[in-house]
Amino acid sequence: ALRILRACQEMGLKTVAVHSTADADAMHVRLADESVCIGPPPSKQSYLNVAALISAMEITGADALHPGVGFLSENASFAQVVEEHGLVFIGPKPEHIALMGDKIQAKKTAWDIGLPLTPGSEGALESLERAKAAAKEIGYPVLIKAANGGGGKGMQVVWEPGKLEEAYTMARTEAQASFGNDTVYLERYLKSPRHIEVQILGDHHGNIVHLGERDCSIQRRHQKVWEEAPSPGLTPQLRDQLGELCLSAMKKLGYWSVGTLEFLLEEGKFYFIEMNTRLQVEHPITEMVTGIDLVQEQIRVAAGLPLSFQQKDIVWQGHAIECRINAEHPQTFLPSPGLVTSYLPPGGLHVRVDSPLYSGYKVPPYYDSLVSKLVVYGHNRSACLARLQRALKEYVITGVETLLPLHLRLVNTPSILQGDYDIRWLETFLAGNQEEGLEHERSDTDTGAH
Ligand code: ADP
Repeated sequence: ALRILRACQEMGLKTVAVHSTADADAMHVRLADESVCIGPPPSKQSYLNVAALISAMEITGADALHPGVGFLSENASFAQVVEEHGLVFIGPKPEHIALMGDKIQAKKTAWDIGLPLTPGSEGALESLERAKAAAKEIGYPVLIKAANGGGGKGMQVVWEPGKLEEAYTMARTEAQASFGNDTVYLERYLKSPRHIEVQILGDHHGNIVHLGERDCSIQRRHQKVWEEAPSPGLTPQLRDQLGELCLSAMKKLGYWSVGTLEFLLEEGKFYFIEMNTRLQVEHPITEMVTGIDLVQEQIRVAAGLPLSFQQKDIVWQGHAIECRINAEHPQTFLPSPGLVTSYLPPGGLHVRVDSPLYSGYKVPPYYDSLVSKLVVYGHNRSACLARLQRALKEYVITGVETLLPLHLRLVNTPSILQGDYDIRWLETFLAGNQEEGLEHERSDTDTGAH
């Protein structure tokens, strides 16, 4: 919300912040022109409460809604309701959200528009027998995925036929509990791919561009922890091929607004996994290497304006890395909400901190634990890494545990320095370095730093 508010203020647009009672002291509420409380802490009663959101718009006379990056941002029927009230949804058209919303549907759409797919089952697996047959045909290991999955939840890797039944039951139960829908499907489990995604931006006039790739392979439990642009794992040829592929697919779809096409890259081949029809958490690294404000462009195109540049005008320069700083214990990853007793963000050339934290702020226990994004730019990857190391050392957050110590370890690790990692690298690193990790934690505690 703070990120979006910043874009609006630079464009001279007035803003209304909505918030739950738990977020009354949040930075976006303090900085918005107006604010409306839309309910109690549980998100079902506030941030997912469609009637409360529409009422807040009507009461304040707001004419457009930015759905942010979570909650209802990929909910086609919500986008539809906003439009039916004569209001502007700052995002793609509801049909496009629906086409890419459910992952099974997304794969069908992707196939129709010419994107290469990860080999997998044809549609949903309603029975164990179908799952067995599909896994046999695809070949082990396989990955069972929830059709409505997100945030890395609802996935089960199965290495051998004997383990399929248990994993299938678990995946369906988890999908039902997390997403209210137990539809699952199956894909070949790629053993050591990189996660490469492409930023798309289009307007209502048929103009569509791509803004290059982001490498989000550093993950824990299928959730991104560290992202970089450009990817250290792409050759110029692969990069061009991917850009062309995405542009041609998005032209076929007639897509507008921001969007991200996600792929796995293994042995020089791209496999589509999903599309996010919204702004993504890691968008700042693309902004750093292109100099383009993605949120401002997203708002402009929602207002019916044409893109302010064409593909040929985009110039990629240097290297950018984003560290996701969660309020979590750096070894156990348990959430660490509570009072921030002191806060001192890093500064200097090409250091960007997108965070709502301040000394005296209380991190609420109800929502996602991401509390800061440290985004650093350098004229090349090694300059970027040196600056990141310096910025991480400067960053002070006390009172709550954060992932700062983990990022400090990562920025000094040979595989990271060489850009040599895949989607399983971080978990292997964490499993093998527990002793070293504890040493780090002890010395951090001793000096009272971070
Ligand atoms: P979510 O919507 O939950 O984020 P995604 O489909 O985007 O789910 O996948 C998240 C991550 O899970 C990927 O970045 C990758 O690390 C892993 N993953 C997904 N599909 C596969 C696959 N077929 N093989 C190996 N890893 C996969």
